[in-house]
Amino acid sequence: MTSSRPVLNIDLNIIANNYIYLTKLCLASEVAAVVKADCYGLGASRIVPVLQQQGCKHFFVANYEEGIALREAHKDINIYVLNGLFADEVVILTEYNLIPVLHNYEQVRIWQEYATKLCKKLPCIVKIDVGMKRLGMSVTDFDKFLESAADSHLEILYIMSHLTSSEEQDNPSNQIQLQKFEQLAQMLPNIARSLANSGAIFLGPQYHFDLVRPGAALYGICFDSQNGINCAVQLHAPIIHMHELLPGESIGYNQIYVNNSNNSVLTATIPIGYADGFFRSLSNKAILYIDGIKVPIIGRISMDMTAIDVSMIPRDKLFLGKQVEIIGPNSKISHLSGYAKTNEYEILTSLGQRFKRVYTTYL
Ligand SMILES: *Cc1c(COP(=O)(O)O)cnc(C)c1O
Repeated sequence: MTSSRPVLNIDLNIIANNYIYLTKLCLASEVAAVVKADCYGLGASRIVPVLQQQGCKHFFVANYEEGIALREAHKDINIYVLNGLFADEVVILTEYNLIPVLHNYEQVRIWQEYATKLCKKLPCIVKIDVGMKRLGMSVTDFDKFLESAADSHLEILYIMSHLTSSEEQDNPSNQIQLQKFEQLAQMLPNIARSLANSGAIFLGPQYHFDLVRPGAALYGICFDSQNGINCAVQLHAPIIHMHELLPGESIGYNQIYVNNSNNSVLTATIPIGYADGFFRSLSNKAILYIDGIKVPIIGRISMDMTAIDVSMIPRDKLFLGKQVEIIGPNSKISHLSGYAKTNEYEILTSLGQRFKRVYTTYL
């Protein structure tokens, strides 16, 4: 049965291939997967098994709730919690074998105390700051940590940090932050290291260390086939109405689009709006595609609907139910994020739950 719901296609083969490509690019490192926010909105329950089949053993989530969901489905993977911990989370973290990323001295103290109480070593990642100033131990915290580490019950798996501007290839702060990381990590000479997100992987092997942590590049945002990466997402919505907009007529809320030409404009309405994460700031700006031909968005995007100008499409190709490409080979996420003045991550993680999700099965 035809449905008016937009269809979000998620190609698991592409995600698998992106992962394989990254492992080849980082031959000397292990390649983890950042699967926070339900794999950037794409569905961890379908994607994690595919990554696991490709040999991925390390998975990063944001909080322990995401960690528990992942643990319940997968017993034999390492799950790291990026947000660290609060004192009342230690029991649940150990119960589900979740490994916290400790990013200040207070968290180190809490985890050490709990380890002492249990009389066993507890695993963790220690995060230091090299410039982001968001999470990560300051030099002072790190010094305190080093002093206390001698009698520590902690099993430090990695020392890690995160760059501020890795997606900007020529930004000199990358090199400066890399040096700061190396300088601080030297204080723990026998501990494995992790610095690179997707952007930093493409800055070169000197950024890779022992474990790289891609998210974006797995799903295929921010990078393209020139980088060996393909976008795993396509989004289409069917035309549910068409209308001949006469000269002088307007379409949509507040009449921000008026047909100022002398000819009528053929409009089509598609059932996607800002409630689906299709940003209102794309109104009257972004361009979508039908059969590879541009169809501009006209008027305000409303909660559930968007209007497009389909005058350029041959009439015999237009019918109710005809699919409009919202994200795909022509309509790139980078175009949408450009029009919406945001980044590709926000477009992807905003895509709504109302879509019909179709996963191209992994072969
Ligand atoms: C989200 C996140 C990543 C992944 O970043 P991408 O740019 O999506 O590759 C890596 N490391 C940390 C600490 C993160 O928070």
